[in-house]
Amino acid sequence: MQQHDRGILIVISGPSGAGKGTICKALVEKNENLFISVSATTRNPRVGEVEGINYYFISREEFLKRVENDDFLEWAEVYGNYYGTPKSTVDQMLDQGINVILEIDIQGALKVKENAKDGVFVFILPPSMEELKQRIIKRGSETQESLMTRFKSAYQEINYVSKYNYAVVNDTVEEAVMKIESIILAEKCRVDRIKETIIESKEGLIHEQLYD
Ligand code: 5GP
Repeated sequence: MQQHDRGILIVISGPSGAGKGTICKALVEKNENLFISVSATTRNPRVGEVEGINYYFISREEFLKRVENDDFLEWAEVYGNYYGTPKSTVDQMLDQGINVILEIDIQGALKVKENAKDGVFVFILPPSMEELKQRIIKRGSETQESLMTRFKSAYQEINYVSKYNYAVVNDTVEEAVMKIESIILAEKCRVDRIKETIIESKEGLIHEQLYD
C-alpha cells in the first residue's frame, strides 16, 4: 500500500532539565524524516547557541510585529521572554510528509492542541525531582533567581502531564529516543490517519476485480 501521508506534528514538552533538548537532538540525528522546528525568541543566546539552529534570536519589537502578522502557530511568554513557532515552515514540512517536532512549553502545547487535533502530544518526565534539580544546576547557565523560578515551575508543570497523549520518562536518552520513535511508528499506523489510503486501496481492489 503506497502512502503519501501528511507528516505528523509531534509536540514535546516537559519541565526544564527533563532533557527535552538532548532527546530531540538525538531523534533528528537518527531519523531523516524528522524536522525540529526552530522557534523565534526574545531571550539572549546562551554560550554555544547558534542563530537559526537553536533559535532565531529577535527583538521584542520584531517579535510583536510577527505576532500581529499572524506568523506564529503558537507563541507564549516563558520566564519573561517570548517564544514562538513559525507557522509557514511547519506547514511546508508537514505538507511534504516530513514529521515535525515542536519542543515548546505547556502553554504553547495547549494552544496547538486546540487547533491541531491530529497532533501527538508527548510529555518528558525526569527520572525523579532530585535528578531534575541536579540537571538544572549542572547546566550552570542560569542565575540563582532564574534557577529558583525554573525549579518552582517544574513542580507545577508536572501536573499537566494528564493533558498529553504520552509520557516518556527520561532515564537514558537512548531509551527515551526509542520510546518516541515507537510512538511515531504507532501513530503512523492509526486507522484514522490512513483511512483515506485504505479507502483508495479498497477502491483499487474493486476496480481490479471489475476489470480482471
Ligand atoms: P529555553 O530558554 O530553556 O531554551 O526554553 C524555555 C522554555 O521555552 C522551554 O520549556 C521550551 O520548550 C520553551 N519554548 C521554546 N520554544 C518555544 C516556542 O516556540 N513556543 C513555546 N510556547 N515555548 C517554547
